[in-house]
Amino acid sequence: MGSTASPGPPRPWADFLRSERRRLGRLGLRRSVVTPESRAGVRATLSGRDYVLFTSNDYLGLAFHPEVIAAAGEAALRFGAGTASARLLHGSTPLHEELQEGLARLTGQPSSLLFSSGYMANLGLLAALAGKGDAIFHDERAHASIIDGARLSGATALAFPHNDAGRLDDLLRQTPARRRLVVTESVFSMDGDLAPLQALGEAAARHEALLVVDEAHAIGVFGDGAGLLGDLDLETPAVVTGTLSKALGSIGGFVAGDGALIDYLVDRARTFIFDTALPPAAVAAAAAALDAARKEPWRRQRALDLAETLRSSLDRLGYPAACSASQIVPVLLGRPAAAVAAEEHLRAHGILARAVRPPAVPRGTSRIRFGVTAAHEEEHLRQVLGAMEAFGG
Ligand code: PMP
Repeated sequence: MGSTASPGPPRPWADFLRSERRRLGRLGLRRSVVTPESRAGVRATLSGRDYVLFTSNDYLGLAFHPEVIAAAGEAALRFGAGTASARLLHGSTPLHEELQEGLARLTGQPSSLLFSSGYMANLGLLAALAGKGDAIFHDERAHASIIDGARLSGATALAFPHNDAGRLDDLLRQTPARRRLVVTESVFSMDGDLAPLQALGEAAARHEALLVVDEAHAIGVFGDGAGLLGDLDLETPAVVTGTLSKALGSIGGFVAGDGALIDYLVDRARTFIFDTALPPAAVAAAAAALDAARKEPWRRQRALDLAETLRSSLDRLGYPAACSASQIVPVLLGRPAAAVAAEEHLRAHGILARAVRPPAVPRGTSRIRFGVTAAHEEEHLRQVLGAMEAFGG
C-alpha cells in the first residue's frame, strides 16, 4: 500500500481512479486497511494504543494456540517456508494429504481437496462444475466468492430470497437446465443466522439439484465442530466447502465431497490446477487446530455462550442483532455513515470492530459486525455494551 512518486497511469485511468475515489467518498464507501503493530489473541496495539478486537474470525482462539504455532514452525523447518509449485507439480507434501483426510473425516465426506483459500475453493468448484446450459441457484446473501464463482462458470445464476426454501423450490421448478446447483452458506457471514439446510436439501433433491454448502463460519463451531450439515439426514449428500482461515486459525480452503467429484476437481478446477500449493506451515497449523478443536470442545461452547450474552445484552440496549444465532453478532445501523460513526465511537472506547457496508451487505443495512471468540472475556463484552450504551446512534 506504500506510494512513491510516479508519473501515474495514463490519463483515462487517472481520471477514472480520481472520479471513483470521489464517488465512493460521497457514498461513504471508501475503505482503508487497519494495521495493528502487534496482536495477541483478541488484543491488539494500534498506533501505540491497546484495543480489544471484535474483528477476528479466529472463533476458537486457535491462531495463538501454542501447539498450533509449534506445528507451523516444525513444518516450515521440515518442508520449507513455501511449496514453490502447484500440487500437481511437486508442491504436495504428506501434510497436505493428511489434512485432506482429516477434513474429509471431520465433514463425514469420502474425500476432500485443499485450495489456497476458501475464496479459491468456491471459485474453483463452481466454475469447474457448472457451465453454459446449467443453472446455479444461490442465496441472495451468499458470500462474494459464491457469486463470483457462479458468474465465472458461465451458468445461469439465480439468487433466491434469503433462506427461503419455498421460493427456491419455485425457482427450481420454473427453471429448466441441463444440471442444477443450489449453493448457500450454513452460517451467514454478515448476519450470523443459520440456513434452513434440511429444507434447502429437500428442495434440491426434489429437482435433482446438487446442494453445495459453504461451512466457512460453521466448521469448528457447530455440529461438534463438523459444521451444520453433519447434523442432517439428507437424501442426497451435499458438497461442503470451507476455509482454514477462521475457526482453524490458519489460511487455506477446501472442498469435501464424493470421490468422483474430488477427482474431477483435480482434473478441472482451475484454481486448484494453476495455483501454488499451500505452505506447509499453514497446512500443519490447520491440522493441529483440528486436533485442538477436538480435544478442547469448551472453546466452541464458550464462543457461542459469550455471543449469546452479547446478543441478549445488546437487545436490551435497543440494538437487536437481527436473526443472529451464532458467534457472529451484527448491530444494524442503516446508513454507511452511521456504521462508520459507530466504528469510530467504539474505537474511542478501546474496541476494534469494523463497519460493514454495501456491497458486503444490502443497502440500508450497514452495520457493525462483532465476531465473538473463545478468547474473549466477559469484561470485553461489558466494554462493548458500555460503549454501545453511550453511542445513541
Ligand atoms: N465463504 C464465506 C462464507 C466467507 O465468509 C469467506 C471469508 N470471508 C470465504 C468463503 C472465503 O474464505 P477465505 O478467507 O479463506 O478466502
